[in-house]
Amino acid sequence: MAEPTVFERIVAREIPADILYEDDRIIAITDIAPKAPVHLLVVPKTAEYGNVAALAGGDPQLLADIVKVAQDLATERTGGDYRLIFNTGEGAGQTVFHVHAHVLGTGLQEGSLGSEL
Ligand code: 5GP
Repeated sequence: MAEPTVFERIVAREIPADILYEDDRIIAITDIAPKAPVHLLVVPKTAEYGNVAALAGGDPQLLADIVKVAQDLATERTGGDYRLIFNTGEGAGQTVFHVHAHVLGTGLQEGSLGSEL
């Protein structure tokens, strides 16, 4: 069996996290290495889907619910303006292959979206 992902270990309370939201299928936590003043992760509890395309194909309702949690947390914490990022693949910076949405907010500039050209 595959090793549990860091997010499964957080769900199981094997490692600590700042939990902002939880229901039977989703958990939201503060990112341990924030890249913006507000940097949250919204994560399905299942590790079945490695990236957002797999999740969209396999359980579109769960993806919609993740987006709703992201919106609600951003409304509370950033005034409702935020960036929603699903890194997909190592070349795009994905390090945990258990799908998760990054919610980034406050102080973001349009020009900070990608790498240097
Ligand atoms: P990725 O690079 O896969 O898109 O995003 C993984 C994210 O998980 C990174 O932003 C990283 O800082 C975060 N992360 C990795 N390990 C932990 C952890 O143990 N706790 C929390 N809260 N975040 C983590």
